[in-house]
Amino acid sequence: MDMFVDNLTHMAKALNLLTFVFLGTVLVTSCSKQRSGQLQETEQHQSLSEKLQLLRLSEIKPTGWLEKQMVGDLDGFTGHLDSIVPDLILKDDIYGKDRLSKSVKTKDVGAITDDGLWQVQFLWWNSETQSNWWDGYLRNAILTGNAYHLARAEKYVNKILHTQDEDGYLGIYDQELRYKFDNENGELWSKATLLRGLLGWYEYTQDEKVLDAIEKAAQNIINNYPINASHPFYSTNPDAGGLTHGLMITDIFERLFQLTKKSEYKSYCVFLYKDFSANKLNEDAQIPKLMDSAYKLRGHGAHTFEHLRALSAAAYLSEDPELMNALDNFLKKIAGTTAPSGGPIGDEWIGQREADATTTGYEFCSTHELMHSYISLLGKTGAMEYAEKVERVFFNAAQGARHPQHSAIAYLKTDNSFSMNGKRNDDTTQPKQTRYKYSPAHQDAAVCCVPNAGRIGPYYVQSMWMKDTEGLVATLLGPSEVSTEINGENVLIKEITDYPYSNSIRFVVEKSGNKTLTLKIRKPAWADEITSSVDYQKEGDLLVFRFEKELMDFEVAFKTSVKEHSFKEDEVYFTYGSLVYALPISGQETISKNFPVSGFHDYQYSPLGFARYLLPTAPNLAGDDSKITGVFLNEKTRKQENRELVPMGKTILRQVTFQRE
Ligand SMILES: [Zn+2]
Repeated sequence: MDMFVDNLTHMAKALNLLTFVFLGTVLVTSCSKQRSGQLQETEQHQSLSEKLQLLRLSEIKPTGWLEKQMVGDLDGFTGHLDSIVPDLILKDDIYGKDRLSKSVKTKDVGAITDDGLWQVQFLWWNSETQSNWWDGYLRNAILTGNAYHLARAEKYVNKILHTQDEDGYLGIYDQELRYKFDNENGELWSKATLLRGLLGWYEYTQDEKVLDAIEKAAQNIINNYPINASHPFYSTNPDAGGLTHGLMITDIFERLFQLTKKSEYKSYCVFLYKDFSANKLNEDAQIPKLMDSAYKLRGHGAHTFEHLRALSAAAYLSEDPELMNALDNFLKKIAGTTAPSGGPIGDEWIGQREADATTTGYEFCSTHELMHSYISLLGKTGAMEYAEKVERVFFNAAQGARHPQHSAIAYLKTDNSFSMNGKRNDDTTQPKQTRYKYSPAHQDAAVCCVPNAGRIGPYYVQSMWMKDTEGLVATLLGPSEVSTEINGENVLIKEITDYPYSNSIRFVVEKSGNKTLTLKIRKPAWADEITSSVDYQKEGDLLVFRFEKELMDFEVAFKTSVKEHSFKEDEVYFTYGSLVYALPISGQETISKNFPVSGFHDYQYSPLGFARYLLPTAPNLAGDDSKITGVFLNEKTRKQENRELVPMGKTILRQVTFQRE
């Protein structure tokens, strides 16, 4: 979450933030003139159609380890977050009777903070916590088909629908406050997070009442922030995290356009991004900054990486060449911020840094947002390089920030993780840093990452299969089942595998007739050799199978070897298949907090027998689907040792990058 507590002073100095007065008394000239006329021009364009279409949420199911993990999360932090932090969820009816009014000046969200500077953000925080949590929760319930959790989700959806006003308003402000802001506020952000969950529920139930409510809420925004005649992102203060998170309402307008094909939503999406880009805001994803080759990303990580999705939507919906160029530049800038695991700098600011495996942490929120943005680009472009990026982030950064045994996650994590005692590798320059530990809540920082840890699995799973003009595409690999209709035939495909912990996949395809089914399977970039028990054709990065038969059962195996990658100037790291491997470091576990709900704790780790390793000239590396073995040089003893690297997702303390001897 964009609150910076202890590292505030530290980072604010670097970013020259302290010169801003938070409640903004500095007048900023309105930017309306800059953008008049642009939109009409772009509205002439037809949107580029997405190369790959998302399936309906309920058409894909996780199986194997993915299902096990999602069921475990429902039994764990995702299923219990409301009871773990009841004050933030159960006791604050922020969209209903506790909507914010002028009389509410502060809110205690349990965060450790230096001063009242960020109090105004605390006002909307619970809307993000609640809605992101519900979004992940209900998607987990839908994808795993769990009746108990589905019933709870349905009750929640009905309760939220009852809070909708006659005029369509769904949100957190009373009549007096809504849509009347010139500064920090949570108007659009509280709606973006809420409506994402409702869209998920609609896709599952196909209940028109839910879609109706979402469209009414969208129309209420359009009525109050009229297209080309208002400035939803105007702020007297350029630091307005809730306001700029609000750009993600484009997720809603873009999806509504995909579902309803109403061009009004498309135009509005483009308008929102352009208004955001034209206003004076300290955010990276604005056109002039992206077009400046010398500009280095510096904003709050979660914002920057989610805004990639808003720009992608606006660029592809408008086909505006300027936006397309800005998008290309944005992607290049982001490439320099990602660690070997794919985790993007976000601890919490990017701060013009390049990724480092030991010193730049990534926030779970940033990890989720970047993955979701890559999924969105995968659909738009059909380019499998984005699928590679999605797998890199999900299997490594995200899995590697989950506790491998307990239901808890790291708010912040580094690839090389030498201790997890709250601070980044025991860096004492941040005395109040608490985020480098495992918790089912992280309330002392902010309850933003745990809700997103519940979203990332479902967002991965729901995008594993997509449709193109010919048939089905297995874009992201892993154990799953897809059941959909292609050319009027019902098609059920079981993808049976431990992928990425095994690189062989069995596909069982059943269909209701004998029309030709075209099935495309992504060929991972790292595959040296492919074996298949049936014939296929290669089409770019896809293996294309065509069947008439009603039942097909075949196996595809991707052969690979240990791959060595250079990182920065003098480091290397290793992958085998989709997985980044790490040398595990044994640690001493301490339970640093107990929760009222039994079985939930905060965990911290100190290294035992601490040593770091170098890579000798002849490491003799060998790998298989579960481990990489080799010889490493102990920096302390200067002796060579036979060591075993394991996937990052199976580690707590670890070393991922190595310098050469
Ligand atoms: Zn977070």
